[in-house]
Amino acid sequence: VSVAHVARRVVTCDPALATPGDPLSAIEDGAVVVDGATVSWVGRAVDVPPGVTVVDHGGRTITPGLVDAHTHSCWVGSRHAEYAVRMAGGDYEAIAEAGGGILSTYRAVASSSVEELASALEARLRRMAAMGVTTVEVKSGYGLEQEHEMKQLAAIRAVSGDPSLPRVVATFLALHALPPAAGGDRERYVREVAEERVPEVAERELAEFVDAYVDRQAFQLAEARLVFESARRMGLGVRVHAGQFADIGGAELAAELGASSVDHLENVAAAGIAALAASGAHAVLLPVASFTLAQASPPVRALRDAGVPLVVASDANPGTAPTESLPLALAFAVRSYGLTPQEALLAATRHAAASLRRDFTGVLAAKRAADLVVWDLPHEVAIVQPWGVSRARLVLRDGRAIHGDGPT
Ligand SMILES: [Zn+2]
Repeated sequence: VSVAHVARRVVTCDPALATPGDPLSAIEDGAVVVDGATVSWVGRAVDVPPGVTVVDHGGRTITPGLVDAHTHSCWVGSRHAEYAVRMAGGDYEAIAEAGGGILSTYRAVASSSVEELASALEARLRRMAAMGVTTVEVKSGYGLEQEHEMKQLAAIRAVSGDPSLPRVVATFLALHALPPAAGGDRERYVREVAEERVPEVAERELAEFVDAYVDRQAFQLAEARLVFESARRMGLGVRVHAGQFADIGGAELAAELGASSVDHLENVAAAGIAALAASGAHAVLLPVASFTLAQASPPVRALRDAGVPLVVASDANPGTAPTESLPLALAFAVRSYGLTPQEALLAATRHAAASLRRDFTGVLAAKRAADLVVWDLPHEVAIVQPWGVSRARLVLRDGRAIHGDGPT
């Protein structure tokens, strides 16, 4: 059965229809016809083809389903004690050195089962769906040791087949922190990750991307290079945490290795920006993290002027981005980073989908996935305003309602 979803504004994000004045290609009094799992037609409500059931959403706004391209949402435990310390002036890098931070979540993950991890992730994905999110990238990286990393990836896989949740894209965060069991032997640990773990993840098809945390007190360029070269040999994509605290050349490395995305970039110099622009990599901005850490913004204007496609993601994690809300990240991207609301929405739809190699979503157009949100809002610009609440009334993934009630 074909259903036409009609609304005051239908925001397609279709580049074929974009104009300088309307980068989001919105249609006033528009309609999206959903046929099973796919969009079959988009246009003006008055032109809806005959024989289609019309559902009129009135003065509301329809957009593509949101795509959260950077999350660490497969975790358990709580970091509330450390958060309180940090808010009282404690330093994140010092807390990490004292065994807090990533290592604290590592201990919780290490003592959990696949089922416990999967159940925490599933609950989080449901809450994300309620905020308009239809695709979520989920990283491992809290297991640190082989056994626990594989357990985390197994938990991510366990929820991936559930069509009532947002679509999941798995990333193996291969280098996040040195596990205590490594005994400080970085070289051996990195070699094991590159030579054994990455091939195993690829062979078992547990992830599509490999990620590494490249920073002055994290992993260094040569270490990340070993792991990423292994990823490329195995046919996996590359995503990089780079420049969160210092620019040590992560953007240049990512560009050289053909990374799909370079994430954070609070600190990146002109050379790194030029390399990114030439490579076509997406810049994934994480404004909740820099807000939490009271950091300066990334050089957004320079990235924009260089033509680097911008993505905004939640970074959902228990330490530096204590949120599951992509709309909140969009609000911060506008308030703190100076993105326009239109840029922010594109950064969480078409650009985010492209950075995950999911071009079939993030755009409302014929033959794309029927991933859409009916917002209880009069205009797409309003999506970045009601902070901290969900205004998603109906969320479809592959034509099926994953939040709210609607014809499917
Ligand atoms: Zn991250």
